[in-house]
Amino acid sequence: MGAEAAREAIAEGTIGERIWFYTNYQCNLACRYCLTSSSPHVPKRELDGATILALADDAVRLGFGAFGMTGGEPFLRRDMPELVAALARRLPVVVLTNGTLFTERFVAQRLAQLANLPVALQISVDSAQAVQNDRFRGKGSHARALSGLARLRARGLHVRIGASLIDDQPEDMAALRELALSYGIEGEDQVVRPIIARGAAIAAGLGETAGPADVPPELTITVDGAFWSPASPTITEGMLDVGERLTLTIRPLDSAVAAMLRYAAELPERTRKVA
Ligand code: SF4
Repeated sequence: MGAEAAREAIAEGTIGERIWFYTNYQCNLACRYCLTSSSPHVPKRELDGATILALADDAVRLGFGAFGMTGGEPFLRRDMPELVAALARRLPVVVLTNGTLFTERFVAQRLAQLANLPVALQISVDSAQAVQNDRFRGKGSHARALSGLARLRARGLHVRIGASLIDDQPEDMAALRELALSYGIEGEDQVVRPIIARGAAIAAGLGETAGPADVPPELTITVDGAFWSPASPTITEGMLDVGERLTLTIRPLDSAVAAMLRYAAELPERTRKVA
């Protein structure tokens, strides 16, 4: 398919302007609602750096406007800071991270280089209260995430807070917004999203059921192929969910984009089946 058709689809919003990379799948935490059932005990499944950069060049050619990176925990990868920097020299990047690995030394020696690039690090914090956060994300995770967040801010990095809406309690969200503001995080950098009943959330009885029309149409690349959305390549009871997979091969990216357009055209039919 031609770059012109891709650019048109992105301009119309049929395909979101952000393209996502699943960097590894492994995580140092094991959140009860994790879409990918990530934990320290699952095997790491990495997209190698050279492939990510080649895909990034394809994405620029096809008219995408931003990159997203998610893990598991992406910063378990040793090459992650340099990879983020290399992507950010092409397009703006947002990285989803639990923020718990950001020691003073790591921030100073490896992450400070990102301060002058268009990079936002989105740290998962679900509540202003540690006890509320940690019952789903693990003991001590709240304190570690906030320590990491403070270190990033002290170095002038762009930080966002990403909260999964566990209990829809307005006073909890108000307190979390106040907490974010105390770190200078405001407006669109305060991200709140519902939990989706996919992956580990199913066994935990958490989240809302969602079909393909309910998740963002943002092309997502994993080591297992290209998917419809970052909410698509989920893992349930150790098995990859392939219902929203577009293609098995990931290069050239043109094929995945063409498959995404076909998928979008069939969306009403797919949505009816889910319903
Ligand atoms: S939700 Fe994020 S931090 Fe928690 S286990 Fe999954 S990948 Fe790790």
